[in-house]
Amino acid sequence: MTFLINKKPFFCNYWVTYRCNSKCEFCNFWRNNSYKNIFDAKFTDVKKNLVDLKKIGVKFIDFTGGEPLLNKDLPQILASAKQLGFFVKLSTNGYFYKDRFKEIKNLPSRTYFSFDTTSKEEYKKIRGIDGYDKLIEGINIAINNKQEICLLYTVTDKNIKNLQEIVNFADSNKITTYIHPCFSYFGNKSLNKDNIKKIKKNFWNPYIRMSLPQLDFHKRGGNNPSKSKCQAGLSTIDIGPDDTLIIPCTHNYNKKIKIDGKLHTLYNSKEWYQLFEKAGKYNFCNHCTIDCYFGMSYFNRLPNYFFKQNLTYLKNLIESKRRK
Ligand code: SF4
Ligand code: SF4
Repeated sequence: MTFLINKKPFFCNYWVTYRCNSKCEFCNFWRNNSYKNIFDAKFTDVKKNLVDLKKIGVKFIDFTGGEPLLNKDLPQILASAKQLGFFVKLSTNGYFYKDRFKEIKNLPSRTYFSFDTTSKEEYKKIRGIDGYDKLIEGINIAINNKQEICLLYTVTDKNIKNLQEIVNFADSNKITTYIHPCFSYFGNKSLNKDNIKKIKKNFWNPYIRMSLPQLDFHKRGGNNPSKSKCQAGLSTIDIGPDDTLIIPCTHNYNKKIKIDGKLHTLYNSKEWYQLFEKAGKYNFCNHCTIDCYFGMSYFNRLPNYFFKQNLTYLKNLIESKRRK
């Protein structure tokens, strides 16, 4: 019955490639052999799916990967999504941003750059490549060309030590920075409660963004399969580079269905709800904290999260208005 809460999906994670030039320690995309033979998403397939996502009611699309800037069709894909009126999010490690800037300029509504250290040496250790200078170069190009950007600090118990330096960087460069606890996937542990407290202390900083309900969700141990509110397939749709609908979610899928231009038809069939009926209830869903499938609007309807969701929303609204 969970689908009754959000009748229409509003968010899509569009994985335009599984390839990545980085080797981040908390990620397994680059280790996963089953991804190695999967080609990048093709514009011809994506174009059809974008039209169907629009019909379904999706408003936000995160073009992600792997490293999405490795996909040669990305400029056409972003332009098409923009033309259809989606909020176009691009999530990148920034390494190829300079090289591809002219092709993608003004296409994303917001570009998220992964940013978890201000040290070139530590960057190499965390991300497995010597890419810090290229990242900073990319961020500067985006700022100088008035692109809307946000830095994304994925926090683990290991890199929480960088919290203050990241906050200082955000303050001194006046760049919005989203602090996001690392999801509990690929064997990563959720953040410990003391570290969640440390993050929350920065809530009122004008350049720092965080979701209080999301942090509480982590603090409370994430998903409980016996009373799960996971909205995979219901608030959030995942599409893979091989033109597949991923069921229930990318990080723990048990099925993929070739879309082949039939996303809207599939969505309107009874099969859709059967496919996602068990989302949140599998054994692998125990303590899951991959909160993008739980939906902020969902948090907004739960008494435990209601106040903090609205406080988060209000603070972000005030800061956005203040900067205009
Ligand atoms: S840049 Fe992103 S996709 Fe690539 S290895 Fe790092 S976390 Fe994974
Ligand atoms: S609870 Fe987590 S692992 Fe399970 S379907 Fe939802 S997002 Fe995926």
